Amino acid sequence: MTDDPRAFLTRQLMFQLEALQAAGVQFVPRTPLLPLPPPSPPLIPVREAIKQGIPVPPPQDVPVQATPDGLLDAPTPPSEGPSERRQGLVVLAEAVAGCTRCSELARTRKQTVFGVGPIDPDVCFIGEAPGADEDAKGEPFVGRAGQLLNKIIAACGFRRDEVYICNTLKCRPPNNRVPSPDERDNCREYFDRQLALVRPKYIVCLGATAAKNVLNTTLGIGRMRGKVHLYRGIPVVCTYHPSALLREESSGQSAMRKDTWEDMKLLLREMGRPIPGRGGEARG
Ligand code: URA
Repeated sequence: MTDDPRAFLTRQLMFQLEALQAAGVQFVPRTPLLPLPPPSPPLIPVREAIKQGIPVPPPQDVPVQATPDGLLDAPTPPSEGPSERRQGLVVLAEAVAGCTRCSELARTRKQTVFGVGPIDPDVCFIGEAPGADEDAKGEPFVGRAGQLLNKIIAACGFRRDEVYICNTLKCRPPNNRVPSPDERDNCREYFDRQLALVRPKYIVCLGATAAKNVLNTTLGIGRMRGKVHLYRGIPVVCTYHPSALLREESSGQSAMRKDTWEDMKLLLREMGRPIPGRGGEARG
C-alpha cells in the first residue's frame, strides 16, 4: 500500500481496466481533447439571486458516491431496477472470475466464489473467504461450516434460497489462512459493489474477518457482537463464524453457540420477525 495519490490512482485505474477486460471489453474509446468550456458565471448566494430576480434551479438528487475512491463502486442510482441489478451482478461476477489482483490467490484458486441468492433479500450472510469445498464447488458455505450455517438460517425461520450468502473475499487463501490486509483491500470494491446491487435489508457478518471488512473496524468479534451496526444505512449484526462454533463443539463447550443464538434473536427482533422457540434453536 502507498499514500502517494498518483500511485493510488494508477493502481485503481489498472484494476478498472483489468475488470473491464475480464468482463469481455477489448477496446476503450480514445477520448478526443475537447476545448475547455467557457468559464461559468460567478456564484452568488441563493438569497441574493432571489433578491435580484435571477431564476434559481430546484435542488437536484445527486446519487451519492458510496466510496469516493472506488472506481468499480459506481453509485447505484435509485432507478436501477431489479433486472439491471441482476445484469450488473453477472458482469461483476465475470470481472471477479478474471481477477488477478492478488497474485497468490489467483494462482492457487480453482475458481472464484462470488455469492448465491436472490437480489433484494431480507438478509445477507457474509463470511470470510471460501474454503476447500467452496473453492471446488464455486458456491459459498457448502462444507461443514455451511451445513451449520444452514441450521442457523433454518433456526431463524428462513430458507437458504431466500437469503443471500457471500464472502468478503472471493478467492480461497491457501490452507484457509487469514486474508492479508492487501487481499482484503483488493476485494473490498467487489463486495461493496455486490452489496449495492443485491441491496439486502439486513446483514449478518459471520466472524471477525467479515465484521472487520464490512464495518471497517479493527475490533474483535467479541466487541462487535450483541449490537446493531450500520453499513451504508443497512443494519448489521455480527456473530461468531460457524467454523468457530464447530471448533468450540469439539472442545465440549457451548458458550459461543448460545451467544450466536442471542445474536440471531437480536437480528429477528430488529427485523420484527417472530423468534422461533427452543425446538428451532441452532444446533450443530
Ligand atoms: N468459511 C467462510 O467464511 N466462507 C465460506 O464460504 C466457507 C467457509
